[in-house]
Amino acid sequence: MKKFVGAHVSASGGVRNAPLNAQKIGAKAFALFTKNQRQWSAKALEEEEIEQFKANLKAAGIAPSCVLPHDSYLINLGHPGEAELAKSREAFLDEMRRCEQLGLDRLNFHPGSHLGAISESECLSRVAESINLALEATSGVIAVIENTAGQGSNVGYDFRHLGEIIDQVHDKSRVGICIDTCHMFSAGYDIRTREAYEASMAILDREVGWCYLKGMHLNDSKAKFQSRVDRHHSLGMGELGIAPFEFIMNDPRMDGIPLILETIDEALWAQEITLLYSLIKE
Ligand SMILES: [Zn+2]
Ligand SMILES: [Zn+2]
Repeated sequence: MKKFVGAHVSASGGVRNAPLNAQKIGAKAFALFTKNQRQWSAKALEEEEIEQFKANLKAAGIAPSCVLPHDSYLINLGHPGEAELAKSREAFLDEMRRCEQLGLDRLNFHPGSHLGAISESECLSRVAESINLALEATSGVIAVIENTAGQGSNVGYDFRHLGEIIDQVHDKSRVGICIDTCHMFSAGYDIRTREAYEASMAILDREVGWCYLKGMHLNDSKAKFQSRVDRHHSLGMGELGIAPFEFIMNDPRMDGIPLILETIDEALWAQEITLLYSLIKE
């Protein structure tokens, strides 16, 4: 099997529960928050929790490279304010260390927001420097930048932004990207037809490069094409339909990486995973 599909599962009650929750829905990959995503600080992971997580992951038959942790929503690595930027960098470093402790090799995050106070390019440089600082203080974990829908003052909606950040990261072996289908669509990259899909993916290759793809988020979109609005929907129920997911499931460029559902109805995840696998044409 080359495709590893799963969902962003709950880690409530402790990270040890995430692999169990993934297993229950037939997932071969998953995403999780390693701490409460709406709080700045969290207590350190205890040794027992870490060991249980690793044991449950192994029992679920899921490789660490198929786990794509997501950082806290509060972090803004491109913040225009010095004090706030420092706070975000500290929190991000803690997230990277948690991944290290759990034996995981990648951390997914939204690049940041300029808040109307600095230019996009200044914001992107701040994000890159934030990544450099985190990489210097850790080892083995890849910083995985997610493309955004471009809502508000978020950067990362244009594939060129991802390339611009990576250009300024010193250790290219530890930086990557995660492409969210809902975000790319609302940011203006169409994938609804074979032709549009190939054209958008060619732009991604030109502006960033396939070697950096470390994961994908598979979401349909409630918001319209080019709306720059971030509203996920269940597969096939939104503006995207099923075709883009059929293209992805048969695209060798997405082999071997975590493909994660962040769709809105978790009761449908098991069905959505089955559906995705059924789209593979051998
Ligand atoms: Zn996403
Ligand atoms: Zn989103």
